[in-house]
Amino acid sequence: MRLKKIIIIGSGFSSLSASCYLASKGFDVTILEKNKTVGGRARQLKKDGFVFDIGPTFYWMPDVFERFFNDFNTSTKNFYKLNKLNPAYQIYFGKEDSISIADNFEAIKNTFESIEKGSANKLQKFINKAEKNYNIAIKDLVYKPGVHVFEIINSKTILKLSEFVSTIKKQVSGYVKNKKLQKILEFPVLFLGAKPSNTPSFYNFMNYTDFKLGTWHPEGGMYEVVIAMTNLAESLGVKIITDCTVENINTKNNKVVGITSNKENHTCDILLSGADYHHTETLLPKELRQYSESYWNKKTFAPSALLFYVGFDKKLKNVSHHTLFFDTDFETHAKTIYDTKEWAEKPLFYASFPSITDTSTAPKGKETGIFLIPIAPDVKDTPEIREHYFNQLIDRIEKITGENIKKNILFKESYCVKDFKKDYNSYKGNAYGLANTLTQTHVLRPKLKSKKIENLYFCGQLTVPGPGVPPSLISGKIVSDLIIKNLA
Ligand SMILES: Cc1cc2nc3c(=O)[nH]c(=O)nc-3n(C[C@H](O)[C@H](O)[C@H](O)COP(=O)(O)OP(=O)(O)OC[C@H]3O[C@@H](n4cnc5c(N)ncnc54)[C@H](O)[C@@H]3O)c2cc1C
Repeated sequence: MRLKKIIIIGSGFSSLSASCYLASKGFDVTILEKNKTVGGRARQLKKDGFVFDIGPTFYWMPDVFERFFNDFNTSTKNFYKLNKLNPAYQIYFGKEDSISIADNFEAIKNTFESIEKGSANKLQKFINKAEKNYNIAIKDLVYKPGVHVFEIINSKTILKLSEFVSTIKKQVSGYVKNKKLQKILEFPVLFLGAKPSNTPSFYNFMNYTDFKLGTWHPEGGMYEVVIAMTNLAESLGVKIITDCTVENINTKNNKVVGITSNKENHTCDILLSGADYHHTETLLPKELRQYSESYWNKKTFAPSALLFYVGFDKKLKNVSHHTLFFDTDFETHAKTIYDTKEWAEKPLFYASFPSITDTSTAPKGKETGIFLIPIAPDVKDTPEIREHYFNQLIDRIEKITGENIKKNILFKESYCVKDFKKDYNSYKGNAYGLANTLTQTHVLRPKLKSKKIENLYFCGQLTVPGPGVPPSLISGKIVSDLIIKNLA
């Protein structure tokens, strides 16, 4: 029997994941990637001996990565070395005023207790609840394809209904009163792309991920995971063609018959796109698109980002591998991202200095710095604006940490809305896809399978289950299961 030929658009985490599952089932799988290197938003930048992860830097939910590799009778250990970070991260609230989150829960409880009497016990109760949600959500629900609402209605979730109506913000304020502790507990849901006041409290499983499962770092950086998955995919027979932009999806009688690219054209039996959902639909004739421009325009997108990749000529003091600068009010910043859609005057930002724990990411005696400011998608992006925020960011770091670093900058590269659009065909230059809000969860997200074309499927951070590297790995698995089920 002829093997079914599957073309996958894009080589992000979801595409790489799907390619492994499909190739392992005997399909003839080819990935077409527009960029010169694989990995999508998780590509790597190397400059003068410095190594930067362009996108993700937080390795959370190690169990999801392990489960992925276990599905192919192997383990993360056979591909990369993981180190648990201690501290997991450090959060600055003002000048020389920071809290570090340790790598074990007992120490974290002690930190809470030292700041607010009685909060250790409350944190224990909060995390017990979060653990139950983690077991329901990540071990089961997120592996459902979002085809039917009954997938997620069962005896366990029925009892959780109130947690879908209440928000993380409300729930957290019921457990701790101290504003800094509240900010720490609200931080993990930022990974879901929405503000804590708009995220169901059920998502507190992210706090369990944070405090109980820990923050890890693959030696060499997150790109090691991309290399691992690429090697696995190729060992399973997946062909990967880079520098290959899909320009048109060719259809006949409401079926995909192939694609046209800037290189050769390909025929296929099934087309799976891991490229941004909105972009993929623009490659189709209008009548075969499922979602209108106004549908996309009304959706809550996760933020875009202004990023800087900086080489420093010395080791930095008073910062950790992951350092968050929350010296400003997040609600005010969040309003600019989700409501007014403009630049915040004084945004909070995140910094990563991987060379603090991983010497392979910078030359000896030097430091690699990655800086990220979350911003509204499609906000104005000019060299002057980028420069303004870079100067503000460096000034604030100097003031807050008490160390001069401006004169130690060897070089900087920036990345913003225009680059997200150019490099990834990203809708409005979003960085993290479609936010996970109550009305954009599970069946309410864009579907894994086209409603109009029977052999067209989607995966990645704009569909089910949502943004982030672990959800992208899961997206690749569930879309593959769906393809296989529909062919049976
Ligand atoms: C700055 C940043 C920081 C992040 N931080 C974290 C973090 O710390 N932890 C975490 O878990 N997650 C993080 N994320 C989110 C995570 O990186 C993403 O959710 C995940 O990588 C998305 O994978 P994907 O498969 O959905 O798509 P993508 O990575 O976007 O892959 C899509 C691919 O499709 C290709 N493509 C597009 N159009 C075409 C075309 N016409 N033809 C051919 N190819 C095409 C693109 O070039 C791209 O390679 C971060 C994201 C960003 C941007």
